[in-house]
Amino acid sequence: MKKRILLIATGGTIASANTEDGLKPLFSSQQLIDTLPELSEFCQVDNFQLFSLDSTNISRDHWLTIARTIEERYGQYDGFVITHGTDTMAYSAAALSYLIQNSPKPIVLTGSQRPINLSTTDAKMNLLDSFRYCCDDRSSGVSIVFSGNVILGTRARKINTKSFQAFASINYPYLAVIQDNHIIRYLDQPKSTQPQFSHQLSDRVALIKLIPGITGDYLKYFLERNDALVVESFGVGGLPMLEKYGFQQAIDYAVENGKTIVMSTQVQNEGSDMTVYQVGHHLKTQKSILEAYDMTTEAVVTKLMWILATTSDFKRIKKLFYKPIAQDILARD
Ligand code: ASP
Repeated sequence: MKKRILLIATGGTIASANTEDGLKPLFSSQQLIDTLPELSEFCQVDNFQLFSLDSTNISRDHWLTIARTIEERYGQYDGFVITHGTDTMAYSAAALSYLIQNSPKPIVLTGSQRPINLSTTDAKMNLLDSFRYCCDDRSSGVSIVFSGNVILGTRARKINTKSFQAFASINYPYLAVIQDNHIIRYLDQPKSTQPQFSHQLSDRVALIKLIPGITGDYLKYFLERNDALVVESFGVGGLPMLEKYGFQQAIDYAVENGKTIVMSTQVQNEGSDMTVYQVGHHLKTQKSILEAYDMTTEAVVTKLMWILATTSDFKRIKKLFYKPIAQDILARD
């Protein structure tokens, strides 16, 4: 029996064509499928046009709609391929990893760096690989399939703006590679029987990247308007300590007002370790402050959105934040 896969199209370069104003999503989900007659040799595909957006426009409400679209059709299909722009695909993959946990069926995001109607496109290979991965019995959970790599949904990062290898897996191995239509699997995902769907995400999460000389006022500005703030600091992590920068006032504001700060790093690989330097070490004992460790910024932001939709209690936030979900963080106990 051929597997039944639903293609959910959301736009992106893969579906884009040139206009006077630059590339814009114009091709439909049916047109994407029509370019790949060989798909019918190994699977049965239905398609659903959900959005036609450059992924720069995609945010929280779209993630909730994608998750709900999958939930409503979960029983009818063996897997889901979501075509999506590459620019925010890592955020969407992370968000879907929290909104749809322990899915025994594969949910694959893919896209391309060049539109599908160009002779030099990477779209067809990415789509074929995605469907092939979706049809394999050992596939499950949320992942990105791109340029022959399979990346866990919580571990992806866009690393190249133009070349075909757009994504890397951060602080975690690739799940598999796909070569000449063969899946070479490095890691098996734990398979559960029942997915858990969530239906809410907080919109009160912000992210700030430190630059040398920045003052604590910037943190306070974001903390006043949000429940959680992710701070991409330098290296293994820390905050400027000289009094003139005024970071302690921002931290005190967070503690007094029940806000959460997550210290992360702007360095792509190897994660944070705030115990190493005095500038980070003194933060470890401050209430309200958590640490991202090996998580991607995309996963930190969307995990906080998912957590804060259900609780405002810091103890509970901390517990959920450090609990590994879809292998987003290495267990620390
Ligand atoms: N701007 C496009 C998008 O993210 C880029 C792409 O798809 O590669 O929708």
